[in-house]
Amino acid sequence: MARFISGSVGVGGVNLKEDVRVIQEMLNRVPPGSSGPSPLLDTDGLVGPITIGAIRNFQQANLGFQDGRVDVNNKTIAKLNTFDTTPAATATVRFAHENPQDPLNPANPTDALDGLDTSAAPFPWLLAPNLGSNRIRLVNGGSFSLLTSNRNVATVEREVFGGTLGRLFTGLIIIRGISVGDAFISILDGIGNQVARLDVSVRRKRRMSVAFHYVKQPNIFSAANPGIQTSRNPGGEAGVVDQMNRIYLRQTNIEFSFVSARPLNINENLGIEVNTSLARLDGEWPRIVRHRSASAKFNVFFVRELETDLDGEPGNAAFSTSPTDTFDAITEIGGNRDCIFEDAAGNPLNLAETLSHEAGHALGELDDPNSKLLMFGTTDARGRKINKAQALRMNTNAAI
Ligand SMILES: [Zn+2]
Repeated sequence: MARFISGSVGVGGVNLKEDVRVIQEMLNRVPPGSSGPSPLLDTDGLVGPITIGAIRNFQQANLGFQDGRVDVNNKTIAKLNTFDTTPAATATVRFAHENPQDPLNPANPTDALDGLDTSAAPFPWLLAPNLGSNRIRLVNGGSFSLLTSNRNVATVEREVFGGTLGRLFTGLIIIRGISVGDAFISILDGIGNQVARLDVSVRRKRRMSVAFHYVKQPNIFSAANPGIQTSRNPGGEAGVVDQMNRIYLRQTNIEFSFVSARPLNINENLGIEVNTSLARLDGEWPRIVRHRSASAKFNVFFVRELETDLDGEPGNAAFSTSPTDTFDAITEIGGNRDCIFEDAAGNPLNLAETLSHEAGHALGELDDPNSKLLMFGTTDARGRKINKAQALRMNTNAAI
């Protein structure tokens, strides 16, 4: 019944790939007797002399003029639409994650980490990287028109496979970030109803360098005072950072880079826990974090035990010598963004996930009560999803 384009196609036109493909498909529906192309056009979305020639032939025969261009809402596309058969929608058209299941996120397999937030309201939302692209699934909408509200911010096109005339829609659409800003993608069915909308934010790449410090205390150990030395040792950090990027890159367009890892010898007696207050990050906190690397925006200090009370501190009979575990890791929100991370945190399997949570604090986020999200407060009980509001704040955080 009708199809729609975001911009003009042909001579001097905007020639968005999706629009060119639509016009090629529409021309192919015109029989040769009505001056449709013969042979049929390759529906490759690329405008050239063959496609422009087909537009001219169609115009001359059906409209009595030819300028080789199809404009939005003008007489050429109106005439082409008299040959179109795109139906009205009969099923719910919706956007979905690129992969229906995320095998690397088994706790929340429907919460893929591709930057699509289906819970965003009033419309689902996608982060697209500036000067890059993101892919998601379009369900039940393969034959309908895909329009961008602002082609200078984001464009959309169907992903197709197969050669020339046999190109088939894969179910995936590609959203390209053209410049930093906000836009939306509309899906229009054959009678012009908007049957789905996707809000898109195009954001630039942000980078956050990470340094790892493994606190060691080579000279002060005794049975009564095992010290705050971590049992962790340098090694494997690049792989951990890769896993952090798997969580962050598509969801926020923030990329972590590994800058250094070292044993950090602290030859002063701090007891068996790093004691601080959560409100002020004082006490023993500054005696650790003053060793931060100035070349990193996020400094992680591995220690044996971190606490916000005196429980477990040796030399006081009123307290147990077996440490309690009220906090696994603490990161300063704002300020120097330092993180102290104890041996119980993220052990053994989800070190990168817990570090990613702490990095979220370094990026200014508070704990979130939604356990499906990365910023849920309890270690080992959280998801990996970063929602729209969090992603937009993180990407524009002044610390990076
Ligand atoms: Zn937290």
